Amino acid sequence: MSAVAGSAPGALLGAPLAAALAAATEDRIVYDLAGIEERHDTLRRELPGVEVRFAMKACPLDEVLTALARRGAGADAAGPGEVEQALRAGVPVARIHYGNTVKSDRNIADAHRLGIRTFATDSVQDVAALAVHAPGARVFCRVATAGTGAVWGLSDKFGCSPDDAVRVMEHARDAGLVPAGLSVHVGSQQMTGEAWHAAVEDLGEVLRRLDRRGIRVDHVNLGGGLPALGYRDRRGTPLDPPLDKIFAVIREGTDELRRIHGGPLDFVIEPGRHLVADHGAIRAHVARLTERRGADGERRHWLYLSCGKFNGLYEMDGLQYRLVFPTHSGGPTVRAVVAGPTCDSDDAYSHEEGLVPVPAALASGDPVWILSSGAYATSYTTVGFNGFAPLPHTWADRAGGDRRR
Ligand SMILES: *Cc1c(COP(=O)(O)O)cnc(C)c1O
Repeated sequence: MSAVAGSAPGALLGAPLAAALAAATEDRIVYDLAGIEERHDTLRRELPGVEVRFAMKACPLDEVLTALARRGAGADAAGPGEVEQALRAGVPVARIHYGNTVKSDRNIADAHRLGIRTFATDSVQDVAALAVHAPGARVFCRVATAGTGAVWGLSDKFGCSPDDAVRVMEHARDAGLVPAGLSVHVGSQQMTGEAWHAAVEDLGEVLRRLDRRGIRVDHVNLGGGLPALGYRDRRGTPLDPPLDKIFAVIREGTDELRRIHGGPLDFVIEPGRHLVADHGAIRAHVARLTERRGADGERRHWLYLSCGKFNGLYEMDGLQYRLVFPTHSGGPTVRAVVAGPTCDSDDAYSHEEGLVPVPAALASGDPVWILSSGAYATSYTTVGFNGFAPLPHTWADRAGGDRRR
């Protein structure tokens, strides 16, 4: 038995991951590859006819890319570096697209040379560059969304208005490119079905207007944003995404868009965190549990862990990860601010938002398991800020224990 900050981990910590975490004697991040594969297969069942293009940045490990490619998935790559890795890992080039609207001439030329023929865009300037450096390529235009309902809305950096999307696609056609599709991204960790519904309405409007201009796209890219299931928000409240409803809205949306379009229309989706977050967990350890009065005059407990914002938990600004203390069961708890090991004050949960109940008897060196931390962990880590190295990763073995590859 183990003490969990808040509530029991229950179904969110599968047996293979739990066994691998228990066997670990040093800090590491452990992935359950079979769990990732199962999440992919479930997604394919829930959204029949929608092809998966894994958003690599969420977990760019060769083994993950290879396993997903064997199951028919492709990759959403953000630049030539990710394209090269996807190819190396065995993803067929026809199932890789360049999903980043931001690219230099050189990036475009490099990706084109590597065989990429489908590119995201959202501006006439980018289209003009694609026409020169990837002549004849297929382009899909990203339509901006509000990001409402997502833990991380994607601001204004990507996507254009429906008006601009029509203009961009006309430019693409006139420049000798293939105006092949439309895309959206509803915001990362999108918690509502309504956001998908709104995105479908915008896509439908653009499809109608393109049809009137004789531009017939062949696919719609539904982007990322599908949620992880095991997160808590900044206040520590479990985020409980209505996944079944989201899938139903997407299924209805694809039917609706096919009806509007009237011709053959393929769909792809670019899940990132949904596939990997819940199937990765970190084994870290307690640096120190302290109690002190701070500059604001408040007396608080602080729990410093060996892992924080700069070595695996970059998203601690938006989340409180679930913590398990496997060597403590029952016993009194204290409410603490949880923080990472570095000399940077951003390396902590916000204590305005909510303190985390932790065992009062925690001692330096005690293990802590950080659940649902598999997304944006191995990639989103510093090279060793303050000398705290990136976490090594290992794989849970379905036969028990963990193994290094
Ligand atoms: C990051 C990204 C994704 C994945 O987002 P998640 O919220 O992790 O699913 C998908 N598509 C694009 C273009 C992205 O940049």
